[in-house]
Amino acid sequence: MPIRVLPEDVASQIAAGEVVERPSSVVKELVENSIDADAHNVQVETRAGGKQLIRVTDDGCGVPVSEVEIAFHRHSTSKLTTADDLTRITTLGFRGEALASIAAVSRVTFVTRASSEPVGTLLRLEGGRLVTRRESGRPPGTAVTVEELFFNVPARRKFLRTERTEQRHIDAWLTRYAMAYPGLRFTLSHGGKVVFQSPGNDRLRDVMVAVYGLEIGAALLEIIENENKHEKALDEELLASGIQVTGFISPPSLHRSNRSYITLFVNGRWVQDPSLTYAVVQAYHTLLPTGRYPLAVVMVHMPPADVDVNVHPAKSEVRFRDGDAVFRAIQKSVRRTLIQRSPVPVATHPSTTWPISSARWREEARERGRERLAGLRQQPAGEQLRFEEQPSGMAAPTGTVLVPSEGQLPPLRVVGQLGATYIVAEGPTGMYLVDQHAAHERVLFERLLAEREQSRIVSQTLLKPQPVELPPETAGLLEEHLEALSHLGFQVEPFGGTTMLVRALPALVAETEPHQILEDMAAALDVGDIPLTTTVEELVARQVCKRAAVKAGQVMAQAEMEQLIRALEQCTSPRTCPHGRPTMIHLSVEQLAREFGR
Ligand code: ADP
Ligand code: MG
Repeated sequence: MPIRVLPEDVASQIAAGEVVERPSSVVKELVENSIDADAHNVQVETRAGGKQLIRVTDDGCGVPVSEVEIAFHRHSTSKLTTADDLTRITTLGFRGEALASIAAVSRVTFVTRASSEPVGTLLRLEGGRLVTRRESGRPPGTAVTVEELFFNVPARRKFLRTERTEQRHIDAWLTRYAMAYPGLRFTLSHGGKVVFQSPGNDRLRDVMVAVYGLEIGAALLEIIENENKHEKALDEELLASGIQVTGFISPPSLHRSNRSYITLFVNGRWVQDPSLTYAVVQAYHTLLPTGRYPLAVVMVHMPPADVDVNVHPAKSEVRFRDGDAVFRAIQKSVRRTLIQRSPVPVATHPSTTWPISSARWREEARERGRERLAGLRQQPAGEQLRFEEQPSGMAAPTGTVLVPSEGQLPPLRVVGQLGATYIVAEGPTGMYLVDQHAAHERVLFERLLAEREQSRIVSQTLLKPQPVELPPETAGLLEEHLEALSHLGFQVEPFGGTTMLVRALPALVAETEPHQILEDMAAALDVGDIPLTTTVEELVARQVCKRAAVKAGQVMAQAEMEQLIRALEQCTSPRTCPHGRPTMIHLSVEQLAREFGR
């Protein structure tokens, strides 16, 4: 084919693809424009997860009559004039692409009135073409309505997910802006129902309560600012770098199963940055159990010249002149806050201090083991131990020689426990070091799925149904998967707004706090598009087992270890945990001989 310049509408559709990926990108761009326009109230309404309609209304400065059409041209902006201005960006927008991109792939109605002018203007564009322009009355500010997103790009439209999923992405963006701009009042409604509102009183803690509920909102620790008007700087290096860190972090007693509750902003812009996320996690070093992460909202304030925001059209990645300085600033501020404000004495997790050599610890461990064993004897069989042995009918008939299939384990003899985390066992071909948590997860997982197969899941009804208030995103996610949850023993139902009513839990996790377990489940389900080979039920089952399994750092009695190993021998895939990590390390007799030079 000969080389040709693409027709204007094709070129603009291609360019639009970089800015507008899904309904939530439209919400993001329009809300950013409202914030840049100094609005105080920003209202977002959607229908059908934003696929049918998105409307953002603000009371900002509006656009003067003479400029309304220019706003929809590509690369037209009021926020930047020279390339040099790029180093002093203080607005969220600056590329002048959003309105043009959105208009290229939808039907847009833009009604605006500049505060200095007596009347407003209404523009209507379809697929980027102007179809209506007239005077219109409205209070100062702007209302942008975007209908039928991707009506002219069927390929894109096909890639959109369920209404719920798209809605969740919108919820996530809106709560981010509410946190970054506590002085603004954001209202979000889906299908005419208000699902979220921030107070707009300039208090971040109140926003945190609106997003995460009263309990979590009240428990969060406010990051200690480096500079205090009345005192000297707490850290001279930080002060010299011009970096300030503010926000809220969870105390060590409050944690989550993944990093997605760590929200970062740089100069009022939400950013995704694994290294900075790690700085937050790193500050909790030894304060959290392994595999658990804090909840945090961290705002970095720094000179605009030291951060490049023009890395990607969606602007959620940034580049720093001195990334290490930003990393250190976050880590120091979070750590300092934890040490000074943490309400409870901080206990280190045994597994992080392993190997433990002190004689005192060993004595204590032995003591605890004895107590547990004594307790066990008093309990009816199987009550305390959830990995009770298989019914005897399942055992191989005597006289049969059990040849372990490739995946299966040979019979193992338990030697003892190591660091309260691993079980040392001996088999016909050498030594096995078993990760007690991973192994127990595997055992519970196979059992749970077998019970599910036979519809025999044991569910435990709570004494009193418990209402649990959740962030809109979490509630949406759970609502979407209520059926899968019910198959695994959860009886949970919507209870108005973003509250869920918990009636029953799977027996395995019946003792866990309902709020905690729902958050856990949402985290497990929050994997974007569920991979084809994994079912939703498997995701839920894995998370239930993870919660129910014996933890690393938990001392186990000999009898408990033996039961666990017996149960593991019965598993079809005993060598990996449900998440795919190994449950054991095998050291063969030959390897041992080699190591000892025999
Ligand atoms: P950018 O935000 O990068 O400048 P946009 O395409 O998003 O580019 O917007 C183009 C221009 O339209 C903005 O620079 C601004 O002047 C004007 N504009 C857009 N939305 C609003 C709004 N809600 N209130 C006031 N002005 C707006
Ligand atoms: Mg913009």
